[in-house]
Amino acid sequence: MFYFEKGKIRFIRGGRYPACNSVFIDDEIRAVIDPASDERTLLAIHQERPIQVIINSHCHEDHFLFNSRFPDAALWVPSREANGFRSMEAFLEQFYESGNIDEKARTAWKSFFTEVVQYQPREPDRLLDDGDILVFGESRAQVLHTPGHSPGHLSFHFPEERVLYLADLDLVKFGPFYGDRESSIDDTISSLQRIAAIDVDVYLVAHGREGVLDGDPAHIQRYMNVIYAREEKLLTLLASGPKTLDEITAEGIIYEGRTLAGGAWDLTVSERIMMEKHLQRLERQGTVRQEDGLYHRV
Ligand SMILES: [Zn+2]
Repeated sequence: MFYFEKGKIRFIRGGRYPACNSVFIDDEIRAVIDPASDERTLLAIHQERPIQVIINSHCHEDHFLFNSRFPDAALWVPSREANGFRSMEAFLEQFYESGNIDEKARTAWKSFFTEVVQYQPREPDRLLDDGDILVFGESRAQVLHTPGHSPGHLSFHFPEERVLYLADLDLVKFGPFYGDRESSIDDTISSLQRIAAIDVDVYLVAHGREGVLDGDPAHIQRYMNVIYAREEKLLTLLASGPKTLDEITAEGIIYEGRTLAGGAWDLTVSERIMMEKHLQRLERQGTVRQEDGLYHRV
């Protein structure tokens, strides 16, 4: 039933988007972090003895997919992203700036969140911040604020078990995702540097085929290097002459022409936002400058 166990920690693997892996703490207080893995397993656990707490590492649909199945469990969420759990409008704000809305995309997403994800607004019962200690019984987790992927993104450190749950700092080959309005490349890098310094035996992550890795910081370094490789490709492209953001997006440096089946996700939108964030970062560093909508390598 469990792909990984250590102490009171159990790991439940999920599938592809909109699923993710879950961490189940089978202690005095039964808790699940990111209940978006396998619905049948989660409900079987709940039937055996109720899950009292559900925790979300951040406010993304592929992490709260089955939140609505546990209306009686307490909901603990990152303080910085609490509003996204309170209302669909606030949730959508992460992706679409009000006043600058692609209505068609917004409508498609809204029906996906309502029908597939079964988004149900609710008031969180506890707001989590960096340094908070969560006591489940024998096992305890320290909350780490690891922003970048999203502004309130949390990781969870179980010091006794020497396990670190990294959620969407997911160490997959593809590399980090920072394609939301409020994502930050610089914060992603700082968060990765921070977690790399924590000495543990095991990394658990929300996505990827395995989801369980040995606690070797080389995994984190490799993942971080994807950011620099993307940046190198972008600089090489600009060395061939100034480009508009549309032209840069069309290169597909990040997604390499991939598409995603199902859902309402248009990867070119993510490609564009992520490239824009790279360009802004390079402008801050002084290696790129923008003039009349054209990006020049300095
Ligand atoms: Zn996410």
